[in-house]
Amino acid sequence: MRRAALVLSTALLGAALVAAQGPARQGGGGWRGRGTQIQPGEECPPGTTLVRVGQCQAPESPPPSIVDYRPKSTLVVEEHPVPKAKFPVVDIHSHTGPTPQTLDRLITEMDALNIRVLNNLSGGSGSELKQRVDYIRSTKYADRFTVFANGLDGFRDVEAGYGWKAAAQLGADVRNGAIGFKIFKQTGMDTLKKDGSRLKINDPELAPIWDTAARLNIPVIIHTGEPEEFFHQPDMHNERWLELALFPDRRQYLNKITFEELNTERNDLFRKHPKTRFISAHFGWHANNLGLAAKLLESSPNVVLELAAILYDLGRQPRAAHDFFVKYQDRVLFGKDTYAPTEFPYYWRVLETKDEYFDYYRDYHAFWKLYGMELPDSVLRKLYYQNALRVTPGLPQSGWPR
Ligand SMILES: [Zn+2]
Repeated sequence: MRRAALVLSTALLGAALVAAQGPARQGGGGWRGRGTQIQPGEECPPGTTLVRVGQCQAPESPPPSIVDYRPKSTLVVEEHPVPKAKFPVVDIHSHTGPTPQTLDRLITEMDALNIRVLNNLSGGSGSELKQRVDYIRSTKYADRFTVFANGLDGFRDVEAGYGWKAAAQLGADVRNGAIGFKIFKQTGMDTLKKDGSRLKINDPELAPIWDTAARLNIPVIIHTGEPEEFFHQPDMHNERWLELALFPDRRQYLNKITFEELNTERNDLFRKHPKTRFISAHFGWHANNLGLAAKLLESSPNVVLELAAILYDLGRQPRAAHDFFVKYQDRVLFGKDTYAPTEFPYYWRVLETKDEYFDYYRDYHAFWKLYGMELPDSVLRKLYYQNALRVTPGLPQSGWPR
């Protein structure tokens, strides 16, 4: 009651100020006049904001751009940064592998973060892949780095017979040391078949690849589509406006394909190959809709989710995310995508602590703050390594905590 009175008196004070300053505030410098009246349910026009019931007004100072506006939080609350994960971690979704120049640095960084295994999804295929594996095996850190194969020619110009050729290549790559197969996002979205049509990920021509993966007992990690907002106009209601404004290659709304179509084709693939284990990268882009993620897991027992680049969605719904991870604790793997030692601790903090309202590391993903999920140790162990070891038998299986 007292708060309502305060709000009302503040509003009246505001009105009095506007009245007192009167016409001097009009004209020039982007100032759009006294304001606009709106009806209940209406939105304020662009450039204005609601100042009291039914009344929109433009700020007197030119508003900062969303790139420049970085308010410092005044919230004082306990902070528990987590520089090192509580249990050893398999990063199933990396694109980094060691070279003679980077090996020692990588090991030092990984040890500090408690990353036990870095799995490079950009293994390539053929002799390129073999060279990568051979180099790893020649170092004294052969149990710290693993590689997934990428298949034949990036799935370009698929025609009759392609599937069997690609399956044979996968067999050779696994013999050369690949422990899984990675499908990049272009496949199923942009890549064209020989006849000029879009290659759908559930195209029957590709079936021999999935069946071969099942026979070889390796998982297929599949990146399908992009965040839902990339398929929508980058208007003032789009959560990813900044990202779409920064990166031309993410503007899926310019293409004909929809988010739903891509997911339907992917889910059809999962259902048609129940013996193949699929890792749906980036939580299948359903981290903003955990109900949909649950539906995917329920309908396809052969699917697990991997959480690269969706931390901002978990961290804004810590309670729902906590419950999801507890319920589906056998179906989630840790992955990060971009290898950046300074960024991993944000993941540990969201997953392990109950900290509140802390920064994320990249504004174009999320302009909001994160909260900790405080997952129990038993779930953290599964998420960090146990599930990865089960789904990917080619990972080093010994030396993990019991
Ligand atoms: Zn990736």
